[in-house]
Amino acid sequence: MVLKREIYKALKDVVGPENISESPVILGSYAQRGRPRFEAITLPKNTAEVQAIVRLCNRFRIQFKASSSGWGAYGDAGGPGVVKLDLRRMNRILEINEKNMYAVVEPYVIYAQLQAELMKRGLNCNITGAGSNCSALPLAAHQGIGHLSVSGSYGERNQLALEWVTPDGEIVRFGSLGSINQWWCGDGPGPSLRGVIRGNVMPLGGLGVYTRAAQKIYHWPGPSTFPVEGVSPHYHLSRIPPGFMIRYVHFPSSDKLVQAAYKVGEAEIGFIVMGFNPGMMSANIATNNNEDLAYLKQFTDSVQGPGFLIIMAGNSPSDTEYKMKALQKIMDEYDGRSLEAVEDPKNAGGFMWRFIRVTSSIREVARASGIFAGEVGGTDVFHLMHQYILRSSPLKQRLINEGRLLADGTDPFVQLVEHGHAGHAELLIRFNKLDPEAFKTPAEVGAFANKTAIEGHFGVPGHVWGDAAHDQYGPHTSNYHLWLRKIKKTYDPNAASESTNYITAKD
Ligand SMILES: Cc1cc2nc3c(=O)[nH]c(=O)nc-3n(C[C@H](O)[C@H](O)[C@H](O)COP(=O)(O)OP(=O)(O)OC[C@H]3O[C@@H](n4cnc5c(N)ncnc54)[C@H](O)[C@@H]3O)c2cc1C
Repeated sequence: MVLKREIYKALKDVVGPENISESPVILGSYAQRGRPRFEAITLPKNTAEVQAIVRLCNRFRIQFKASSSGWGAYGDAGGPGVVKLDLRRMNRILEINEKNMYAVVEPYVIYAQLQAELMKRGLNCNITGAGSNCSALPLAAHQGIGHLSVSGSYGERNQLALEWVTPDGEIVRFGSLGSINQWWCGDGPGPSLRGVIRGNVMPLGGLGVYTRAAQKIYHWPGPSTFPVEGVSPHYHLSRIPPGFMIRYVHFPSSDKLVQAAYKVGEAEIGFIVMGFNPGMMSANIATNNNEDLAYLKQFTDSVQGPGFLIIMAGNSPSDTEYKMKALQKIMDEYDGRSLEAVEDPKNAGGFMWRFIRVTSSIREVARASGIFAGEVGGTDVFHLMHQYILRSSPLKQRLINEGRLLADGTDPFVQLVEHGHAGHAELLIRFNKLDPEAFKTPAEVGAFANKTAIEGHFGVPGHVWGDAAHDQYGPHTSNYHLWLRKIKKTYDPNAASESTNYITAKD
């Protein structure tokens, strides 16, 4: 389908001829993940232009889809008749409020930029585990769970005031922004819209466009810039910043690991705590697949059982001393041992930099298979998430035994959120994507994970996107899917906001 000239001209009048394209080369590059092509790509520069495009789409009964830094496939077109709003020109950090500890960004600011600016001021932010190349808008990521979530929480909880262009083209400024033009609060006045603009997971482009947002920021006890040396990918630190320490602690059993993780949460000693397995540690450090396999073997041979990665950051010499002692006591109590290759000064600084700056996610999840595959659990009580992922994992072992998945030495992966007030779990898989049999395994793992979540009442995981998935979970979860549809229908009467990955307003 080619856009009618009248529509193309109207869009061009909004953004200017330099900022719109329907050239096959450009459309093809936005469809490189094999999804349908957009009808046109637009590059709006501000909220007014976003609003004008959204209104035109409503008027001409076509659809639109926004994306921020474009990392996730959810930003692609779900079918024909969709115009892209690529928000890359909206790329400013609007405010860093040191006193009240929040930052306000436009959608194309990425976490690497925001974190670097914050560190200069003794501050830090959560970063989606997808990587610091992603948008720092807390609403772009689908959950925003990441390496720093133990001390820096995640998207939904960090979200403060927001500016939203609704699917039918209204501008809504909610929280303190709407009442007193300030950014520090995301709720009210009156009922909060937090649950409307994002539920358990994000609408993933299916409910209008977020144009500016504030988020909570956190204390950073480290240096204003990291003492990084070397050339990519062989970066290392010239010295470990004072008060910082990294360990990979492995345990004789999953039970002991979980008890120890609880204690780490209670003691509030973790700056980063990730239930990474040897496969993710090897993928972080390796610079090619052969190296990855060599490290994987070395790490797997050296651990007694499942483990977690912990980075601690002391605020003062006595705080550092407390954290070190607390970790040692927990390790003693639960028979935890440190993986020497990680604390080895040759590796420790590089690991630390890559985890804190969240630069190696793509390697951690996609090194072996070239794509992200497996099961993304929800965010709920730590113990519940641990149980869920444990119950989902026997299938993975069976598929490894059958030779359909690579043996990656991985256990299910559970992490602490907010020092253990919550937890998040994932089960990543490695497969040969050139093997037609192995290619079926991600779907098989997903189906098993859904069955486990529903039958075990483990809540709605983070991978529940689109009509079919919501229809599967809704009847077991207070019929939330009916409410979600009502929200979609009310705010998007013309179904203009393309919602393949959210929900449609079908009856
Ligand atoms: C390799 C990999 C690892 C990942 N790991 C994690 C992880 O550890 N934790 C986690 O939470 N997620 C993870 N994800 C999912 C990830 O959070 C998203 O892919 C990522 O956050 C997208 O960031 P982005 O800033 O590039 O958003 P985009 O890709 O630009 O957009 C993501 C979705 O949000 C919508 N959207 C984006 N910006 C706007 C806006 N301004 N207004 C309205 N809608 C918008 C888009 O339409 C799209 O549906 C991972 C994804 C990949 C590919």
